[in-house]
Amino acid sequence: MFKFFKLRQITVTCPLCETVFATHEVVRLPAMSRETPVEADLHRILPDAELRSNLLAMCPNCVYTYWLTSFTQHYFLPQVVPDSPPVSPAKKFAHAVQSARQVNNHALDRSVLALNGYWCSREEGVEGGGEKFLRLAKVELTAALSDNDWVGNRSRYNYVMGEILRLLGEFPQAIEFYQMVDRRSGLPFELVDRMQRFAVDGNKNPVRLPPHIVEAIFVPPMILSA
Ligand SMILES: [Zn+2]
Repeated sequence: MFKFFKLRQITVTCPLCETVFATHEVVRLPAMSRETPVEADLHRILPDAELRSNLLAMCPNCVYTYWLTSFTQHYFLPQVVPDSPPVSPAKKFAHAVQSARQVNNHALDRSVLALNGYWCSREEGVEGGGEKFLRLAKVELTAALSDNDWVGNRSRYNYVMGEILRLLGEFPQAIEFYQMVDRRSGLPFELVDRMQRFAVDGNKNPVRLPPHIVEAIFVPPMILSA
């Protein structure tokens, strides 16, 4: 299964309670190319839910869960320290949203974690399992976009919000957000126009992007997908 992807066990320290524990990191994730499977909500489809969930680390002592890259590595061997708790892949993202609240991270951060929970649920193959994550992503992204002090690519996130709403079947609201997307989003007009037409037609299905649009957006890569 992990032909092009590989996991490796490493030891890290929890930034909250300083527990040292073992977790997995994804190594050898191939670079994006025009053939990489990407959906219209700007995420890369991963072949296994374990891969996405291992972008997070979860402390076995205080259950703090966050992007692995924010944990400091420790020199102890993984074999001599406790393991990360055995939590199902998508559930780990629900914990991460809670942890992000606990340490008062920005709503945008929580919305990206919730979106990853939605993608992970789908990669896990749980029927309808992603909808609660989509609803959560909508709540958090609404909060992020209504924060006037937040400086980021507002135009691109208006597009992402359009996609969240379309996937939830909230078509008139989705169209409002697609219409707020401009050149600053860095997204091809063809994409925004196409997804807006999907919303007009009442289509809430996930949509796979054609190679030329993947290439226009992701080569070089952006960070939303990981
Ligand atoms: Zn901890």
